[in-house]
Amino acid sequence: MAFEEYIKSTSMGGHISQFSSPSEKKFLNQLLDKIKIIELFQSSALQKYAFRLIPFENLKMQATLKLSLLPEDSDIELDDLVILELLDWFKNSFFKWMDVPKCNACDVVTQGKGYLSPTAEDTAWCAGTVEHFVCPTCCKSFRFPRYNHPCKLLNTRIGRCGEWAICFTFLCICLGYEARLIVDWTDHLWTEIYSESRNKWIHCDPCENICDRPLMYEIGWKKKLSYVIAFSEYEVQDVTWRYTCNFKETLKRRTLCRESFLLQCIYSVNERLLSRVQIEKKKYLMSRRVQELTLFLTPPKPESDNYTGRTSGSLLWRLSRGEIGSLVPQSSYIFTLSSKDIEKKYLHIKYSCSSDKYFRSSDHSIEGEGWTSCTFSHSNVFRKVEKDWKMTYLARTEGSSEGIVTWKFDFENCDLVIKNLRLNLHSEVFDSGKVRWLIFPGLENNQPIIYSPNDVCPLETQHFRGTKGFLLSAELSGGKSWQHSQIFRQALDSVTFPFEVEIHFDKISS
Ligand SMILES: [Zn+2]
Repeated sequence: MAFEEYIKSTSMGGHISQFSSPSEKKFLNQLLDKIKIIELFQSSALQKYAFRLIPFENLKMQATLKLSLLPEDSDIELDDLVILELLDWFKNSFFKWMDVPKCNACDVVTQGKGYLSPTAEDTAWCAGTVEHFVCPTCCKSFRFPRYNHPCKLLNTRIGRCGEWAICFTFLCICLGYEARLIVDWTDHLWTEIYSESRNKWIHCDPCENICDRPLMYEIGWKKKLSYVIAFSEYEVQDVTWRYTCNFKETLKRRTLCRESFLLQCIYSVNERLLSRVQIEKKKYLMSRRVQELTLFLTPPKPESDNYTGRTSGSLLWRLSRGEIGSLVPQSSYIFTLSSKDIEKKYLHIKYSCSSDKYFRSSDHSIEGEGWTSCTFSHSNVFRKVEKDWKMTYLARTEGSSEGIVTWKFDFENCDLVIKNLRLNLHSEVFDSGKVRWLIFPGLENNQPIIYSPNDVCPLETQHFRGTKGFLLSAELSGGKSWQHSQIFRQALDSVTFPFEVEIHFDKISS
């Protein structure tokens, strides 16, 4: 029996025909549409096909490595870390974001022209809408069917948050996780995964590569949430209450249907979904559901007063932001002069973000591999790789208000002092993002000299004449975390150096 028929056959069916408003009917249809997608997840042939697309052994190896770096008392388990690896792989190597298609022939962005009607094939792949775009130069038409079928998405690997969340949820299921599709009625979708070790559902946003940060939408994105509904093989659940800390305001915005109507819908659908489950499993699922509902009785609290404050939040969330660096000892690296440098009275250090390596010119040697290998300290910064756009840069971690990287140059070990300094400090800011370069002359707590991205680059200065070293810091703030303040941005295939420190020295006159 189809769901629509089933619903009609229940007590709720009467409800719908006699009392429900058009808005309630629409709401119910939206619920049923999502259930149809979840049903597609159950095909074991499709699951097997999808599993082969996941580099599972590789992900597991990475996760095992990270697990070994964690403090012994952490409650993170291998399964949790595999999910983080899956998120990262999914976002950076598997799925692509699509805003507007590009006309390849003209190399321009096309313009949206509304919708086209879906073909039979579109409908077969659950694309209810087909967006229409036209190239402004050659007038060629482009169709963008919004597929909802996991099989199709495994091949197209492109879309917006709906396609991302459907495909990611499905891949989690293929790896044996219990996962559900989360639909936020204010136009976003993500995934929840059940963690056996913590006895709770964990928020995972594949578009953002973020885990366990349920209040990020309301507090971080300032979303006015209304309905957030979870869909899985066994249940539909109203999980709004995990994502908001203001129940009262959220309730006021829930005007699409009567609360009793929603409860009734969920109840009827769940009856049906559970009817095909074994009794033992059913008992387990029921008790788990009660447990979850109990959690929803009290509003969650944000993890810190300032939600964008640094290193707050769950360990899992921090790990998902690539903050593993903050858990292991920092490098405290100091650049000093080699005998060749002293001989030539010249030091030249350069870093390439594309190869993620530091080089020392005088010795033609690699000074360090990985951007953190030669930093004196760093916090809330990570190296971002945009596989779609083939760009890379250092940026602030999601949710942090300020990121800082410091490099230290110390020339106390010889009889040379700085004569002049040439700095190539490439940074880029967008919107309200900010980057400040601070150079602290000498190695005491001197007042820094501050440069902004608008200053001349490369910069030549004699400000440091006679000193025996300095600290150089980059401060990244403002705008939207990693998007808006970046340093060392360059193409992945670039062979240039967006960071260079070049120093000529004088002998100390006796
Ligand atoms: Zn064109």
